[in-house]
Amino acid sequence: MCGIVGYIGHRDAQSIILKGLQRLEYRGYDSAGIALFDGKNINITKTKGKVSDLDNKINNLKFRGSQIGIGHTRWATHGIPNDVNSHPHCSNSGEIVLIHNGIIENYAAIKTELINRGYSFKSETDTEVLVNLIEDIQKSGNYMLGKAVQIALNQVVGAYAIAVFDTKKPNEIIVAKLGSPLAIGVGKDEFFIASDASPFIEYTNNAVYLEDEEMAIIRLHKEARYRKIKSDTLFDPYIQKLKLNIEQIEKGGYDHFMLKEIFEQPKAIVDTYRGRLSVNQGLIKMAGVEDYIEKFLSAEKITVVACGTSWHAGLVGEYIFETLARIPVEVEYASEFRYRDPIITKKDIVIAISQSGETADTLAAIKLAKKHGAFVFGICNVVGSSISRETDAGAYTHAGPEIGVASTKAFTTQITLLTIIALRLAKAKGTISQTNYKKYLVELENIPSKIEKVLEANPGVEKIAKIYKDASNFLYLGRGFNFPVALEGALKLKEISYIHAEGYPAAEMKHGPIALIDENMPIVVIATKYGHYEKIVSNIQEIKSRKGKVICIVTEGDTQVKEIADHVIEVPLSSELLSPLLTTIPMQLLSYYIAVLLDKNVDQPRNLAKSVTVE
Ligand code: GLU
Repeated sequence: MCGIVGYIGHRDAQSIILKGLQRLEYRGYDSAGIALFDGKNINITKTKGKVSDLDNKINNLKFRGSQIGIGHTRWATHGIPNDVNSHPHCSNSGEIVLIHNGIIENYAAIKTELINRGYSFKSETDTEVLVNLIEDIQKSGNYMLGKAVQIALNQVVGAYAIAVFDTKKPNEIIVAKLGSPLAIGVGKDEFFIASDASPFIEYTNNAVYLEDEEMAIIRLHKEARYRKIKSDTLFDPYIQKLKLNIEQIEKGGYDHFMLKEIFEQPKAIVDTYRGRLSVNQGLIKMAGVEDYIEKFLSAEKITVVACGTSWHAGLVGEYIFETLARIPVEVEYASEFRYRDPIITKKDIVIAISQSGETADTLAAIKLAKKHGAFVFGICNVVGSSISRETDAGAYTHAGPEIGVASTKAFTTQITLLTIIALRLAKAKGTISQTNYKKYLVELENIPSKIEKVLEANPGVEKIAKIYKDASNFLYLGRGFNFPVALEGALKLKEISYIHAEGYPAAEMKHGPIALIDENMPIVVIATKYGHYEKIVSNIQEIKSRKGKVICIVTEGDTQVKEIADHVIEVPLSSELLSPLLTTIPMQLLSYYIAVLLDKNVDQPRNLAKSVTVE
């Protein structure tokens, strides 16, 4: 799940590529590299570390003025992050240069074959195998680069988004895609290549998103030619007009993207329900649901497939769907679902959730569900993403770009969308009273202003973070609708502070985790009204009897928990069903402040990447 960038045109390629790589660093940041051609010489600079390290290295070399270049920020799959394994990779002759996002699964067999033919390899990557395969094909058949790339790609198994050029003919870049995303920005006499549109949005809003098994041959000062890799047919691409603007992908005065995105949640939720919810008329309108309402209503079961934070949103969705619409819901890890033999029929609906819409396991789960004849509905944030294209219908969360690797606004907007769908179905099925229906619509509309209030409690959370930042373990407990929120709270802390944390349904504490509790163990408990308030209060008593330190998220004005807890963070009153949208906010802030105090890289935590496009 690396980030790739390329440029061909009349501007300085180096600065466009370096800036672009910075924007794509959410996709991987083990190492980075760039290849530039200035009309005479090719320069390749690679380094372990961040794009800023690459920037320092390359600036010392002063290689400005190139009009063609490709760059890469890596999330290693084959070979440790070091200078040699970084991309771009060159063929043995040094003539062909390539960057790659994805995995060549049959690289070992191809590598053996190439070694037998006299090729040698410097790196441990699958990518170096691909670039040499292209060279071998090009040389043996005396092919143009585009043709050699096409033949090579027909031999590889796996996933790729690649950009490649030939130093002997450095006025063209070939790009191709299967499984990993690739966008082409079409400017006036210039082209941009990138894993998403963020590197080129300030230059052009015309973009072509390549589909799987498509390639393009992009020539300096010429039109690009688009070709299907398998059938070898030319096609005219669909040029999409992008709505993204540059402010949306910058930090806007916040220290980190994560903090910015936490604070953006009120707006993001409004953007999710805007145009879909009409409280006055008591209406919910969503084309993706409306057009298929019969399918939804006759569904025997809904299976949610997702990974990570989206899986937690799916779990909240299970509680919401079953409560409101009385449809049985199962929530599956996409990575498990795709490799077992799940019981899915034509009468089932599968809801796939993914922020990026590129999650490899979720995409594979979608394909499997379709094979079983299920109707697949996608919920994702990134417009035009693979999942939005692969599903039968769907809805965007419209949360705006999420750059911080730890998901925040994606989670709350996914829950918002699931709630709207569940309410719509409940209304159609008659499983909700008119009073409750109206009540939830009004409440949903008021959630953003309630989140604003929670965000005002920000300094209090920072104080708590200071007290517990050095703990080695945390426990997160919640019940009912807030049990998945406890899982998500623990995940957030692990992701960005590297402190071990576990989330549990509060009552399960007695079946194991209670053994861990002593005076050094901070325990975050969601104890909002009403739900299972009394039960949770008993759980808190049990923790206090064992000297655990309790940080409670409570409803404004609560007195009972305040007396027994070590710390409380208040959130406004809401129905239990919608409370996850509020209780999750202090948890995000707590993780954020702990990570900042521990001096961790909040937006780019180690070993993680934002969009997991490898399985
Ligand atoms: N497989 C390539 C490598 O390890 C690319 C990795 C990726 O796209 O995540 O270098």
